[in-house]
Amino acid sequence: MSQEQDNVMKLLEKKHYKYMKEAFKEAQKAYLKDEVPVGAVVVYNDKIIARAHNLREKNQSFMAHAEFLAMQKASKKLGSWRLEDCDVYVTLEPCPMCAGAMIQGRVRHVYYAAQDNKAGATGSVIDLFETPFNHKVLKTGGIMADESKELLQTFFKKLREK
Ligand SMILES: [Zn+2]
Repeated sequence: MSQEQDNVMKLLEKKHYKYMKEAFKEAQKAYLKDEVPVGAVVVYNDKIIARAHNLREKNQSFMAHAEFLAMQKASKKLGSWRLEDCDVYVTLEPCPMCAGAMIQGRVRHVYYAAQDNKAGATGSVIDLFETPFNHKVLKTGGIMADESKELLQTFFKKLREK
């Protein structure tokens, strides 16, 4: 890799880390509310336009996943169901519902942290983005995976001890 390419890669990594860090802050908010700690942000034109964390218990809604809520907020903000130039950063691999919503919303790219071996729909259990739907969402996993996984593990450990 040339020096120039190397610099571009480093800048990109820094950017993804910056946004995932914001998603992680949302996950921490969920943790403090006794919700499964998952957070998400939606980025448009290099700006965070929506952020959310899992609120399944509070809302008593199976739809209240972090990235689902963040995408709804982003849609509202943009005044459009089309999230074509939006990227989603989420601390856990999306489930089938959220991966499906990303296809429906025409999301450009999803960056996720930890894998979800039990419910992940972008590679773990199934890969919805590798199926021939009318829209293909790009995906990148693994950014801040350790921190996000650790937060989830701490949460479930705490839950078991209750
Ligand atoms: Zn989900």
